[in-house]
Amino acid sequence: MASILVVGGGIAGLAAAHRLQQLGHRATVLEREPVAGGRMRSERIGEFIVDRGAQFIASGYRNLRRVAGEVGLGPAIRPLARTHNAMLRSGRLEAGNYDSPLAFLRSRLLSTRAKLRLPRILLELLRHRAILDPLHPERAAVIDREDVPSFVRRLAGDENLEYLLGPALSSTFDSDPEDLSAAFLLLALRFVMGGFGLECFEGGIGRLGETLASRLDVRTSCDVVSVETGAWGARVRHREGGGDREAVADAAIVAVPGPLAPAICPRLTDAEREFLEAVHYVRGIVVFLLLDRAPQTLPYYGVAFPRPEGIDLYGLAVDHHKPGVCPPGAGLLNAALTARAAARLWDSSDDAIAGHVLDELARTPVGRLEPHGTAVHRWDPMLPQFRAGYLPRLAAFLARRERSPRLAFAGDYLVGPYTECALTSGLRAAGEVVASLAR
Ligand SMILES: Cc1cc2nc3c(=O)[nH]c(=O)nc-3n(C[C@H](O)[C@H](O)[C@H](O)COP(=O)(O)OP(=O)(O)OC[C@H]3O[C@@H](n4cnc5c(N)ncnc54)[C@H](O)[C@@H]3O)c2cc1C
Repeated sequence: MASILVVGGGIAGLAAAHRLQQLGHRATVLEREPVAGGRMRSERIGEFIVDRGAQFIASGYRNLRRVAGEVGLGPAIRPLARTHNAMLRSGRLEAGNYDSPLAFLRSRLLSTRAKLRLPRILLELLRHRAILDPLHPERAAVIDREDVPSFVRRLAGDENLEYLLGPALSSTFDSDPEDLSAAFLLLALRFVMGGFGLECFEGGIGRLGETLASRLDVRTSCDVVSVETGAWGARVRHREGGGDREAVADAAIVAVPGPLAPAICPRLTDAEREFLEAVHYVRGIVVFLLLDRAPQTLPYYGVAFPRPEGIDLYGLAVDHHKPGVCPPGAGLLNAALTARAAARLWDSSDDAIAGHVLDELARTPVGRLEPHGTAVHRWDPMLPQFRAGYLPRLAAFLARRERSPRLAFAGDYLVGPYTECALTSGLRAAGEVVASLAR
């Protein structure tokens, strides 16, 4: 039995420790925050349960469902009461109906001309399907040369970019389409086509992290300042309870967002440091609105705001469609600001940010809302951006021959910007670090 220190108690680090424990090793998770879970956490505000980071899971999250099942949370996975989305177009909310090709053709979201150009994107999907594996994005490195706007405009025109694919990506990944690659779009479409029923954990998405943490050795409020590894093992220095401490083990996994890793790992190889420093995460702001009554204007789960409509939001999630997150009849919404609005308002007061979100929504058919409470979350880092040219660098990093000894990495930046990918990276890191013990 080996001892392994896992730095970072987000879903990647917790999954890594869970897998190590299953393999018969002793894993200790060191987490900086007072609670584990990272960007997949829930918090209670009065009678409301707010999923402060990740909002939903999808039926295609196979690894996450397997791990949830292993810790007895399978029955807690529930479908959302509403799963259809809408987009704002010319000041109206148009439902996006993707249930069948016929339903889509009949929807009023896009002009017939734009709809007829979409199969060209589907053809690209078919052409590259052999290398489009959402849990192995690096296999698509050879086609990662173009950003989303240039790819979509070239094949399907401006309307499909601005009123369909751009807003769908922006409202899901909190990024402008310029900051995502065409290869990433194809990987996301491939994933959606593999099964994308929207689901959640009854009682909050944070239940998965809480349950995993309750079965593991997790030390919270433990700020790691350095991780050094060698053929002899791993030494981790951290601040805990106001004092400097040190822990020694056989190996370590660093499960923090990529760009944070070099600062705590002084002995990385040059190639590891160069890759990690160049990983890019967007920062962003999400505002939760707690309402006495659910607004009648929102029979959708999500609403996306295309850029030409001039609203400072990427999207609005109608969280009260998740079972058990608020009292019957009450409303819970969360709105994500655009990157530009988030940059402008970053240092404003929470009240000013929430006020701006309410003013923006009042300019749409959602109308003027009067929440009895609001919660503003500033995320930095928020989500990794898979920009054009990232996948070849990721592929080179994953295949590197020269590796820091007894050290593995985990985090969403290694697979994709959602919980299934973060968790998968943790499961893989557990296998890698065990293999490194034999070298
Ligand atoms: C607003 C938002 C909405 C999202 N929506 C969805 C969604 O609907 N569905 C979905 O599947 N995904 C969603 N995601 C993405 C998903 O939440 C993340 O991809 C995933 O949770 C990342 O997990 P991680 O373990 O890689 O990183 P993190 O959760 O960031 O975990 C890293 C941990 O390391 C800790 N840490 C950092 N530095 C140190 C240090 N020096 N010492 C000790 N600990 C340290 C941090 O405190 C953190 O807990 C969303 C994310 C955000 C922010």
